[in-house]
Amino acid sequence: MHALIIGGGIGGLAAAIALHRHGWQVRVLEQAPAFTEVGAGLSIQPNALRALEALGLGDQVRAHALADAPVGIRRADGTWLIRNDIDRLTRRHGPWLTLHRADLLAILHQALPPESLETGVQVHQVRPDGTVTHTDGTCTADVVVGADGVHSATRRSLWPDAPPPRYVGYTTWRMIAAARPVEGSVETWGQGQRFGYAPMADGRVYCYAMANATQGTTIGMADLRRRFAGWHHPIPALLDTGSPDAVLQHDTYELPDLDTYVAGRVALLGDAAHAMTPNLGQGAGQALEDAVVLARSLEAARLGDTPVAEALRAYDRARRPRTQMIARRSRRLGEMVHRASTPFAVARDTAMRITPSSVVARSMTPVLSWTA
Ligand SMILES: Cc1cc2nc3c(=O)[nH]c(=O)nc-3n(C[C@H](O)[C@H](O)[C@H](O)COP(=O)(O)OP(=O)(O)OC[C@H]3O[C@@H](n4cnc5c(N)ncnc54)[C@H](O)[C@@H]3O)c2cc1C
Repeated sequence: MHALIIGGGIGGLAAAIALHRHGWQVRVLEQAPAFTEVGAGLSIQPNALRALEALGLGDQVRAHALADAPVGIRRADGTWLIRNDIDRLTRRHGPWLTLHRADLLAILHQALPPESLETGVQVHQVRPDGTVTHTDGTCTADVVVGADGVHSATRRSLWPDAPPPRYVGYTTWRMIAAARPVEGSVETWGQGQRFGYAPMADGRVYCYAMANATQGTTIGMADLRRRFAGWHHPIPALLDTGSPDAVLQHDTYELPDLDTYVAGRVALLGDAAHAMTPNLGQGAGQALEDAVVLARSLEAARLGDTPVAEALRAYDRARRPRTQMIARRSRRLGEMVHRASTPFAVARDTAMRITPSSVVARSMTPVLSWTA
C-alpha cells in the first residue's frame, strides 16, 4: 500500500515514519528546495515525548535535548506568579525536553529511507480519490496525508469553504542566545507582551517573545531590546547576546475548527488540520500524536480488513476532539496574557499568585497525559 505525504515538516516526517514502520511504502513531497531548517528551540512535553517513543525515536531525542520542566511564571519586575514544584510536575506527567528544532528534524529525516523524500515539489491540488497534482505532474496513492502546514494547499483543495487561518493579534520572535547559566525554563508576563527562555543541552538559551501588534508589522532587534530593557535579569542580557540576523519573527495564526480532518482517502495532519497558537507549546506535540494515531488507525486498511476511508474516519474521531480542545485552551491562555489593560493584568497576576502550584500541575493533566 502506498502513502503520499504532502509536506516535510515535523508532522509530515513523523507521519511518514509511523506509516513506514507499519509497512506502508511512503513518499514525502516537500516544496522547499532542500530540507534545511533554521528554526530555534522547541519544547517537547511529556505527551510529545511519548509519541516520539512510539516512533522509536525517544532515545535519540533525549540524547540531543535537555530535560527541563517549566520552573514557573514571573512578572516583568521578577516577582514570581507561579513557582512549579518541578519534582511533582515531572513525577506526575513525565519529562519535559527542550531541543533545537533542526536537531529534531534531522532525527526524523534519518529515520526514513532517503529515496522516500523529494524536495522542490509543490502540490497544487488534491482530490478525495487520492489524486495529487504537483509541479512535476500527477500521481495517486492509497492514502494521502496533507501535512502542509497552516496555509495548507490540501485543505484549500478539499475544504474550499473552510474559513482561512485567523491572525490572533500578536507577533512572535524566536532566537538562540549565547550560552549562559539560567535557572531553567521561565516565562515572564507583562501587559500585552511576554518573554520566555529555556536552556538547551549545549548551554545556549532558547528565547522567545510575543507582543500585541498589527498584522504584518516588522519589529527588529533594537526595538525588541528596548521593549524588554527594564525586565528582570537575565532577559536584557539574553537579548544583548542574540544576533539580530538570527531572530525569527512570525505573526501568530490559528485555524478555526474544521468539522472533519478527512475527505475520502485524504487526511489532514498537524498544523494543516489544527494550527494552534503557541501558548501551550503543543503544536508539534499534537502533530506527533496525530502521526502515531493515523498509522494505527490505518492498520486495518493496510491488512485489507477495512476501506481506507473508514479507517481515516476512525483517525478523525480519535484526533479532532483532543486537538480542538488543546487549541481552545491555548487560545484562552493567549487571550489572558495578551489583554493589555492594567486592571486586568493586576487581577490576573493576583489570581495566579494565589493559585497553588499543585492545581496548576493538575490542570495540565488532560493535555499531558496522552499515551500511545
Ligand atoms: C513561535 C512558535 C513557537 C512554537 N513552539 C512550539 C513548541 O515549543 N512545542 C511544540 O510542540 N510546538 C511549537 N510550535 C508549533 C509547531 O512549530 C508547529 O505546530 C509544527 O511545526 C507544525 O508542523 P507541521 O509539520 O504540521 O507544519 P509545518 O512545520 O508548517 O510544515 C509544513 C511543511 O509543508 C511544506 N509545504 C507547504 N505547502 C506545501 C505544498 N503545497 N507542497 C509541498 N510542501 C508544502 C512546508 O514547506 C513545510 O515544510 C510553535 C509554533 C510557533 C509559531
